[in-house]
Amino acid sequence: IKKIGVLTSGGDAPGMNAAIRAVVREGLHNGLEVYGIYDGYAGLHANNIKKLERDSVSDVINHGGTFLGSARFPEFKEESVRREAIKNLNEHGIDALVVIGGDGSYMGASKLTEMGYPCIGIPGTIDNDIPGTTYTIGFDTALTTVVEAVDRLRDTSASHKRISIVEIMGRYCGDLTLGAAVAGGMEFVAVPEMEYSDEALINEIQAGITKGKTHMLVAVCEHMTNISSLAKKVEEVTGRETRATVLGHVQRGGAPTPQDRIIATRMGSYAVKLLLQGEGGRCVGLMNSQMVHHDIIDCINNMKRPFSDELWDLSFSMF
Ligand code: ATP
Repeated sequence: IKKIGVLTSGGDAPGMNAAIRAVVREGLHNGLEVYGIYDGYAGLHANNIKKLERDSVSDVINHGGTFLGSARFPEFKEESVRREAIKNLNEHGIDALVVIGGDGSYMGASKLTEMGYPCIGIPGTIDNDIPGTTYTIGFDTALTTVVEAVDRLRDTSASHKRISIVEIMGRYCGDLTLGAAVAGGMEFVAVPEMEYSDEALINEIQAGITKGKTHMLVAVCEHMTNISSLAKKVEEVTGRETRATVLGHVQRGGAPTPQDRIIATRMGSYAVKLLLQGEGGRCVGLMNSQMVHHDIIDCINNMKRPFSDELWDLSFSMF
């Protein structure tokens, strides 16, 4: 291979810029030309492609978001649309791609590989919800942001003897919620991996009050319940002032932490090395502190993300 492309796809995550930078610098270091594909698969289809030089990625390692832009482009599932996109790869002479995104983006990468354009996937999402890796780029930054917000809520909850219910992102993965609950010393946590009902949670909160707790912080992963209605119910049952806070997209932004920058740099570099070894249709992961790679389809279909029972138990014993 002589020319590679790099794109970011799906939801953005802090550290994606560091990964792009690593792909560019590792590629150039190995004598490759590197092309930036803007706005994910949509930009690949629209021929929004520009050659990147060493200085194209200067001063991006410390910035959140992705300077290449990201997009959702469901049309890419159609083979005819992918064929049109491939014409653009051919026009630029791009032989292979690095795709930074989630499991949907991995599927696009796998399909392109089948069509003769080897791709390597890098896990980029704050949700930590991708199999084949214990860590996804952006998770640590988001966790830092959430814990900072929780610390602030603790101050005001304590002053007003209030119950605060906080909705935390993660889609259907509780890692961010559980991590924030343990690091933020939150009293209760609801994650999709474990059984949940509003009623059971309200009973636990009531038990906390009986135990003498004057204020409480409750971590709830998104998509589990409506936390505004939950706050009303808690207030009705307990008679304590209860507030709901949805942290929302603030969790997706901000300067990446050193951990995210380092892992993104390792993964970007590793992806280019895999392409140079002739690999394609693989996704990169971090397991036991080592870089690993798996077949994308095997990873998506057969690998399970580990859930930390240890942290789950801690969230109870620290109560
Ligand atoms: P996130 O976890 O942040 O949502 P994601 O990569 O899973 O990231 P998706 O929207 O599922 O996000 O996928 C990103 C893009 O990948 C889609 O908009 C589409 O362009 C492409 N894609 C998804 N699934 C497929 C598929 N089965 N075949 C080809 N392309 C796909």
